[in-house]
Amino acid sequence: MKFDLHCHTNVSDGQLSPAQLLERAAAQGVTHLAITDHDTVNAYPDLDCPVGITLIPGIELSTQWRNRGVHIVGLNIDVDNPVLQTGILQQQAARAQRARKIAARLVKQGLPDVHDEALAAAGGSNVGRPHFAQALVAQALVPDISAAFKKYLGDGKVGDVRDVWPDHDVVIEWIRAAGGIAVLAHPEHYKFTRTKLCELLRDFVAAGGTGIEVISGKQEEKITRKLATLADDFGLLASVGSDFHRPGTSWSELGCCAPLPAQCQPVWSQW
Ligand code: MN
Ligand code: MN
Ligand code: MN
Repeated sequence: MKFDLHCHTNVSDGQLSPAQLLERAAAQGVTHLAITDHDTVNAYPDLDCPVGITLIPGIELSTQWRNRGVHIVGLNIDVDNPVLQTGILQQQAARAQRARKIAARLVKQGLPDVHDEALAAAGGSNVGRPHFAQALVAQALVPDISAAFKKYLGDGKVGDVRDVWPDHDVVIEWIRAAGGIAVLAHPEHYKFTRTKLCELLRDFVAAGGTGIEVISGKQEEKITRKLATLADDFGLLASVGSDFHRPGTSWSELGCCAPLPAQCQPVWSQW
């Protein structure tokens, strides 16, 4: 069995369509896949799953914790649950508001207003920072996507707008209402000190969170050991995900996740 419980399609900021993603997952030998698009489950309706792949309904929700952006993955959710659906609508409104704020902040930096170009780049899917990056590149305001993030859009930069998102405990409630498991996504990504990560985990568990990504894409062995220990300490189930967005990024290829350390209790032991 090969699990990949975190990846994106072009329904959010990934490149492949849901059907193309499933095809690639099958080719990569993935047996259990969760598509976890940002704040949407629109990949799921009418999805024909190739033989050999078990699809676990999922989502990645943007939240804030102490004014820091934190992502929470919901796994094994009922995508039609009304509480979750209402939450998703709220996220979409927040995302639209965030796009306006990002555009306004870039204008303040002396750039032209790229709001409409970013929305056009999203092509009707959930607009996010990568679409603003595309808009900036298209207007030759930066040489490439990575420069756009480095200068304007990356974490802590002017275009990193987080205050529109609900608190982490609110989002955990939506996931639980939909019968799912709330998993803290890519814990290393936040660059918290160990103390701060422990504080987050304490709050996360108190709010009803029950899982943590012990494996997130290709990562160093020592990170895996650290996260496995934290999972143990906080009694959390361990999840595994590539956070795949597009082909050609070897650190986050679909299905390329190291196995969980033996001490971990996998999330899938719960379903
Ligand atoms: Mn993304
Ligand atoms: Mn994320
Ligand atoms: Mn992700």
